[in-house]
Amino acid sequence: MANPCQAPLPEVTTIRIYDCRVCKGCMVTRDRDNGIAPPYVRCRVTPDCEGIAVQREGIIDQELAPEYLWIRPDAGERARVLDAVPEQTRPGMLRYLDDDLRGMLLWTLGGDWAT
Ligand SMILES: [Zn+2]
Repeated sequence: MANPCQAPLPEVTTIRIYDCRVCKGCMVTRDRDNGIAPPYVRCRVTPDCEGIAVQREGIIDQELAPEYLWIRPDAGERARVLDAVPEQTRPGMLRYLDDDLRGMLLWTLGGDWAT
């Protein structure tokens, strides 16, 4: 009998919605990779909004078109991100991305890190 602990990870299609309580806008994201998406992000809906967008709970329509991707950066993507952050931020970011925490970063559909 197959060992369920060794079952392959499913193809990632997870659509998430993050709601901003300040500007009342929302962001639609899709997981590109198998990792952990944070429960909240800085609002990027409205320019200059200082709100925090919180991940909506419950069943999310998986047919929504994403505006952002959650990714676990590969080596090249990781190097670009690490170049863009202050040196003192790099150890924490590497820890966040490592195989224990499996953190994901928010990227635009165009392939840029959404700082
Ligand atoms: Zn907002």
